[in-house]
Amino acid sequence: MKAVVCIKQTPSTTAVFAVDNGVARWDDPGGKPVVLNPWDEYAVEEAIRLKENHGAAEAVAISMGDDSSAEQLKTCLAMGCGEAILVADAAFAGSDSLGTARVLAAAIRKIDDAQIAVFGKQAIDGDTGQTPVQVAVKLGWTPLTFVSAIKEVTGSTITVERLIDEGKETVTAPLPVVISVVKEINEPRYPSFMGIRKANRATIPVWAAADLGVNGGVGAAASQADWSHIYPLPERNTVVQLIEADTPEEQARVLVNKLFEEKVI
Ligand SMILES: Cc1cc2nc3c(=O)[nH]c(=O)nc-3n(C[C@H](O)[C@H](O)[C@H](O)COP(=O)(O)OP(=O)(O)OC[C@H]3O[C@@H](n4cnc5c(N)ncnc54)[C@H](O)[C@@H]3O)c2cc1C
Repeated sequence: MKAVVCIKQTPSTTAVFAVDNGVARWDDPGGKPVVLNPWDEYAVEEAIRLKENHGAAEAVAISMGDDSSAEQLKTCLAMGCGEAILVADAAFAGSDSLGTARVLAAAIRKIDDAQIAVFGKQAIDGDTGQTPVQVAVKLGWTPLTFVSAIKEVTGSTITVERLIDEGKETVTAPLPVVISVVKEINEPRYPSFMGIRKANRATIPVWAAADLGVNGGVGAAASQADWSHIYPLPERNTVVQLIEADTPEEQARVLVNKLFEEKVI
């Protein structure tokens, strides 16, 4: 049994994009770097733990993106994934989440004995949170979303704890499954020095549309999602007031009085 973790390159959380006439300047993140989608760090950690604690033969990282996404795949290798695969083809550009799911499902199908596909709960740029469940539907696997703990994996089942509005629930499902994880699930490890050296020497294989047998239903022409009405958030006129007093207690008293006056508390 192998665990596959799907990861995405995203802009850093500090990136600020300009918007021109309803079109976001995605190519210009204000000089900020691109990173491994922060939610995916938890997914990568959990895939590695499936190998370390639950008998998975390997943790395989995959990403659909352009050549530069190889950097984030190397981060996965440095953390402890044993394999990483870049899924890239000009035909995939502009895919919506359903097109992305078609491609990722085809890639997961191609990985021998893949039984568990792990995702972060959302990507911080596209932010739809739809991809994991759409991948599950395309594969015909059981989707388990918002997973906060993996309790047990047997040869044929997985038992997980899920975060739900009312609290938590424990669910057992037959393998294979797609799970999306929340940050409560673990504390992602830092890449080790040896891991970074090994990852830097690694050559990441690239799978294209022809390798996956993907023929149509992907790319900009097939996208149903309309991203044409993007607008910047209106600027907020905030006034900052520093409370000066001789003691912290006095500062707190002034602050509480002001919050009462403004009917905040
Ligand atoms: C800059 C930009 C431009 C876009 N332009 C268009 C457009 O023109 N037309 C259009 O229809 N859509 C467009 N999109 C949407 C884009 O296709 C979605 O980002 C993508 O389909 C995945 O959805 P999501 O980002 O909401 O991921 P989510 O569903 O929020 O992510 C959930 C999980 O799925 C994983 N995942 C998501 N994508 C991938 C991937 N490629 N490889 C591996 N794992 C992945 C995430 O890492 C995360 O773990 C654009 C998005 C961005 C950021």
